[in-house]
Formats: sequence, structure tokens, C-alpha cells
Amino acid sequence: MAKVYLTGAGPGDIELLTLKALRVIREADVIIYDRLVNRDILKEAKEACECIYVGKANRHHIMPQEEINRLLYEKALIFKNIVRLKGGDSVVFGRGGEEALFLASKGIDFEFIPGITSAISVPEMANIPITHRGKSASFRVVTAYEAPEKGYAQIDWKIFKEDETIIFLMGLHQLRTICTQLINIGKPKTYPIAVISRGSRKDEKVLIGTLENIYEKAKSLPTPVLIVVGRVIEIREEIMEKVSCHIFRHL
Ligand code: SAH
Repeated sequence: MAKVYLTGAGPGDIELLTLKALRVIREADVIIYDRLVNRDILKEAKEACECIYVGKANRHHIMPQEEINRLLYEKALIFKNIVRLKGGDSVVFGRGGEEALFLASKGIDFEFIPGITSAISVPEMANIPITHRGKSASFRVVTAYEAPEKGYAQIDWKIFKEDETIIFLMGLHQLRTICTQLINIGKPKTYPIAVISRGSRKDEKVLIGTLENIYEKAKSLPTPVLIVVGRVIEIREEIMEKVSCHIFRHL
């Protein structure tokens, strides 16, 4: 009996893969993976495992969801262990729910294997805790990708509460709009914002700025890029100060 594992691969660093994900990857007959998956993870698969990339098929075209569904179905008719591998966690803007619904409708057994989402881990690895007593008691993860015709809602800028942490995914192209809109709803121009490029990878870059000045600094950063807005960014500054004092004292 075939089973499809809807598996999160974490934000990039291979050591952030869960033990459960690693087990199913090692047992997989087929792995169907996305653009944000660290390719080194595939080295853990059996030699006979077929690894199929469904990110950008020819430079710009991502394989349509219907085709991915069909591929999952076809592979499930032939093989026993199928891993659908995605960056971060499959249900955080990863269409994991859609694939689960499709598999269920076809009577194919499946299981979600959670991954570490970039939304929390990427800021955390940059020393930005997404909640912190006295700074932020809640956080909101938002897609900055607006395409109402495809079912991605437009952002309702009024929903953001004062001093909650906001994490924007897929937001680099929208950075200027994000800053302008947040100023429009009343946030100070000096409000802290961080842009993190290629979090948890060797070439990670962290830029800190304000709603007023981040755009110029950040616009040419390599993707994937995540945006954090909130007072919790000040914690990073405090941590960095303490760390550098400490180093200084020991010199
Ligand atoms: N399912 C994924 C998110 C998919 S949406 C997860 O849970 O992490 C894709 C967006 O995630 C990217 O546009 C970017 O905003 C963010 N992202 C994913 N990995 C990232 C990384 N290593 N560094 C920075 N941003 C990342």
C-alpha cells in the first residue's frame, strides 16, 4: 500500500531536518521536491530513489499544482514510499493542505511530517525572538504575495495590532509597499524592520533598518528573503551589544 509523506525540509540548514523527515527520506522510492529544499538533503536518499524537481521547470515556470497532484497520484500507483518535500513546513504557504485533500479524494494514504518553518526559525537564528515579554505578545505570519484571482487575498493593513511582530513571507518585491502601508496605518518611520536573506545558509545576510530606510539597503538581496517588523528586533541589538562587550572584556 502506497503512502505519501507531506514533509517539511526546514529552512535550509540540513541539521534542521527532523529525525522523522530523515527516516522517510532514507526509505523513499520517490522524492518530489521544491525550489527551497536544500539539495544536500537528497544525498540521504537511497541510490535507487527517483528525485523529481517541481520548482522552476524551465527558468520561470513552476509546475502547476494540478500536475504535481497528478505526479503524486501516478507515483503512488507504482511505489510504496513517496516523499513530497518542501522548504520549511508544508502547510505554511506550502499548499500542503491542498495536496492532502487531493490524496484523500483519491483514497491514497498520506501523513504530514512537520518541518521547521522559516517564519519562526529564520528570525530566531538571526537573534530576533518573535515574541518577547514587554516587546511583543503575538506574531502574525503574512504572505506578501497578493493575487486575488489565484486565491491569495490582498493584505488588509488595518488588521495589524500595535506592537505585534509581523513576519512577511514572499515579500521582497513588496518591501516598499509594506513600509509605506505600515507608516500609513500609524507606525513611526523609525519603527524597526529586518530583512533576512537566505536564512540558516552559509551566505545568510541580515539587514536591520527602519520603515523609512530599509528599502534602498535591501532591494538587491538574493532570495529567499523574509521580512520581520517589530520591536523584538531591538532584542537582537541588545544581544549583539552584550556579546561584543563580552568579547571586548576578554581581549
Ligand atoms: N513553507 C515555507 C514557506 C514557503 S513561502 C516555510 O514554512 O518556511 C516561501 C517564502 O518563505 C520565501 O519567499 C521567503 O519569504 C521564506 N523563506 C523560506 N526559507 C527561507 C530562508 N531560508 N531564508 C529567508 N526566507 C525564507
